[in-house]
Amino acid sequence: MRRSVFIEELDAFTYRSEIEKGDSIVLIPAGSIEQHGPHMPLNTDVLLSQAMAGSLAETVKALVAAPLVYGYKSQQRSGGGNHLAGTTSLDASTIIAIAKTLTMEHARHGVRKVVFVNGHYENYQFLYEGVDLAIQELQLRGIHDMKVMLLSYWDFIDDATISELYPEGFTGWDLEHGGVLETSLMMHLYADKIDIERIADLPPAVLPNYDILPVRPELTPTSGCLSSAANASPEKGEIILKRATVGMAAALEQEFLQQRKVASDSV
Ligand SMILES: [Zn+2]
Repeated sequence: MRRSVFIEELDAFTYRSEIEKGDSIVLIPAGSIEQHGPHMPLNTDVLLSQAMAGSLAETVKALVAAPLVYGYKSQQRSGGGNHLAGTTSLDASTIIAIAKTLTMEHARHGVRKVVFVNGHYENYQFLYEGVDLAIQELQLRGIHDMKVMLLSYWDFIDDATISELYPEGFTGWDLEHGGVLETSLMMHLYADKIDIERIADLPPAVLPNYDILPVRPELTPTSGCLSSAANASPEKGEIILKRATVGMAAALEQEFLQQRKVASDSV
């Protein structure tokens, strides 16, 4: 039987023996339950952050922890807004507490290299805060070798790939909510979970360059998507998955694996 990279699918003894080797990298996917238009499920960010982490884990020999299923509140300028039913979010203090706790829990297991693989735009700064608090606390307890990396997978898609994927022009990652990026990945990875017949081909959202609370619901396009997914394709999804994996693997190589190599060379 091929051993899973997903920790939740391992028995505890196998997990412990992996961790006892001493140089394990644990990837923690961070998603959300958020509306993604009429054509994609509410757990799109969970599925995609998990798939990205899975692909990365195969490449760099890491393990993937169970994901953060809920995320920080959807914002109108990046996710359509938290006023839309279906979107179910956590307060910032809860996300911070979860990120801190998960970092501390993996440290308790003996893991010293953790990566949050974010798939929901709004999570990032709160994950950062949770990790920062965990590192401070671990240092006070005398643990100084814990290293945590945070990334959002779309930041590893380079400009050349962006021009290839968006020949008609790129509107920016914030407006990619429910657009070409996520829809292409879902077509490639989870074709049975989406309904391409229901893609709403509307112009990109026109939003102010500021936030206003309470939100003005009329600013969010009726589809809930901030840009059209009409140009999405499974081929684009495959390219995105591969290039993002290569980019993330290079970053992990830089931060973690060279150290792994140095450590094993000096044995
Ligand atoms: Zn999303």
